[in-house]
Amino acid sequence: MQAGIEQTRVPTTVHCDHLIKARVGSEPDTKAAALYENNEVYQFLGSASRKYGIGFWKPGAGIIHQVILENYAFPGGLMIGTDSHTPNAGGLGMIAIGVGGLDAAEVMAGMSWELLYPKRIGVYMTGKLNGWASPEDVILYVASKLTVSGGTNAIIEYFGPGAKTISCTGKATITNMGAEIGATCSIFPYDKRMDIYLRATKRGLIADLANQYIDLLVQDQEIEEVVENREEYILKYFDRLIEIDLSKLEPHIVGPHTPDLARPISKMAKDVKNNSYIDTISVALIGSCTNSSYEDMSRAADIAEQARARGIKTRVPLQVTPGSEMVRATTERDGQIHLLKEIGANVLANACGPCIGQWERPELKKDESNTIVTSYNRNFPGRNDGKRETMNFISSPEIVIALALAGRLSFNPFVDELTGADGTKFKLKPPKIAPEIPEKGFNDTSRDDIYDAPAEDSRSIEVTINKDSVRLQKLQPFPKWDGRDFEKLPVLAKVKGKCTTDHISPAGAWLMYRGHLDKISDNLLLGAVNAYRSDEVGIGKNIHNGNIESFSHIAREYKKQNMKWIIVGDQNYGEGSSREHAAMTPRYLGCAVVISRSFARIHETNLKKQGVLTSTFKDPLDYDKIMEDDRINISGLNNIKPGKPVKCVLHHHHNNNNRTYEEIYLQHSYNESQIEWFYAGSALNVLLSRKD
Ligand code: SF4
Repeated sequence: MQAGIEQTRVPTTVHCDHLIKARVGSEPDTKAAALYENNEVYQFLGSASRKYGIGFWKPGAGIIHQVILENYAFPGGLMIGTDSHTPNAGGLGMIAIGVGGLDAAEVMAGMSWELLYPKRIGVYMTGKLNGWASPEDVILYVASKLTVSGGTNAIIEYFGPGAKTISCTGKATITNMGAEIGATCSIFPYDKRMDIYLRATKRGLIADLANQYIDLLVQDQEIEEVVENREEYILKYFDRLIEIDLSKLEPHIVGPHTPDLARPISKMAKDVKNNSYIDTISVALIGSCTNSSYEDMSRAADIAEQARARGIKTRVPLQVTPGSEMVRATTERDGQIHLLKEIGANVLANACGPCIGQWERPELKKDESNTIVTSYNRNFPGRNDGKRETMNFISSPEIVIALALAGRLSFNPFVDELTGADGTKFKLKPPKIAPEIPEKGFNDTSRDDIYDAPAEDSRSIEVTINKDSVRLQKLQPFPKWDGRDFEKLPVLAKVKGKCTTDHISPAGAWLMYRGHLDKISDNLLLGAVNAYRSDEVGIGKNIHNGNIESFSHIAREYKKQNMKWIIVGDQNYGEGSSREHAAMTPRYLGCAVVISRSFARIHETNLKKQGVLTSTFKDPLDYDKIMEDDRINISGLNNIKPGKPVKCVLHHHHNNNNRTYEEIYLQHSYNESQIEWFYAGSALNVLLSRKD
């Protein structure tokens, strides 16, 4: 709208998957509650899409990544998306990268998009998954090797004979969850399994084209040979190489609270005991934008069928979130949903729901610790139900069903038995090999119910924004840099340990205010652990009155007095979802600088784009030098140059009223055009100035 163009410059779609709250079940949650509660947001998105040439996938159509895989992803393409799991499309051989909202807006307006040239991590696969092991176990295993930041600024390339044995949707699961290790994106080379999926989703012409140019879409033969022959110079092609024999892969469970705390299922019972995890599961959930393909649902249904044959149901509530309407309708027709319902499952909307905090759990008491098991992608504290006390353990859908039948986290289906309705003991068998596409084809859902095409003539279309809305607020440009060095800025927050975008700007109930910057700013740093008060979360010291108050409240007080302030981050600050608000809300409330030990890629770019000076400690140990009552000067701002450190002086205010000073240096990763963003106040301001 602000770029003054009539149509987006690149093909664009909008998806409504994050706002549907899981309460009762699919129909009432989508058609009654969500359409009513979020009506003005959907009206706005729908009208803006129709006007600007954007395809609009309505609420209930499915989760963005699944819908993209089913309709748009293609081998050899490049796509960006405003969600960190965009690399899901790497399962169809596409370079697909999660970016911030402003990155996407600029590309939609016709600007080019830039990226730090990535490192390459190769994952060479041999063997074949068997038994209980699933594609999700591949990425959980890789996450355990690389940790949550090990993929930062890297493209992960899966290849080798084992890669060809994994279905297209299985590949998408692996590339989707590369986001959990911070990878820029993950990709598989084109193969027969992608051809099969493209044809099943009515894109035979694309498959034909891909087959015609197959030599451009597959791994170079010489690289496979170098790996197979264990030549030393493999590192000429990759910065790091991981090898996996799929035949030996055990099912894994990860968590709680981080996706890289992985162990094979055989070690889970010991971990439960050693760490005093709550063994009794409160709820089991399968689905999400990945791990809910036809193949996944078929494997989960196989376990359900074994339980039904023995006359038992799950011992705990089981929730199912299909990834798309196409998969839901097909698995409804082919019986998988029926089997899951027969063992007690409840089917939720084709939406993110409990994966993004849109989950009402009235049964939980305040501060009640509990264990959930999911086949979702993420498990940061507070992620699923907004409660940090909920411990989320992630595994494949079939393992989640097995755990739900036993009702306990320590259950190991390899050795433990269940009791049938007749009192006899039995062991679950591994799921049978499941069809990767349905024998009868995917169910032809009626597009009109779930998709709106852009208008052919959009001149008369008005974008709908209610002027009294508390959900939507037109963005005002941020002020440009005032030309002065930063002097005596207070530290609003020095965070300790993991600080994801979920900690900086939590989702859940806050999602309803995503279109209203002022309102959503009240969630600033709600989940951040204060480094000076390690048991305290979301609160800090107000320098004016010495009171301990919420970070957002303090920031608003400083803003009223025209005071800028600083956030100090720890390692990999801003990992997790590519949430624009985690950069916009601090900026809106007056954050001038974020200094961190290190940054997650998307969040660092988001901060830069919003005009926040983004820097890292030249010496990471300097993190420890910043005290709660410090005031901080940063100088030389009129001469920021790529690669040139910035001087920073810490003014320590001691209890005895003594003052001391300390000089440290900050590094930054700004290039010339990004420096312009800082001076202009934001990247959007640069875009607007070019329009003039
Ligand atoms: S919230 Fe969960 S289901 Fe939705 S796109 Fe993100 S990871 Fe996927």
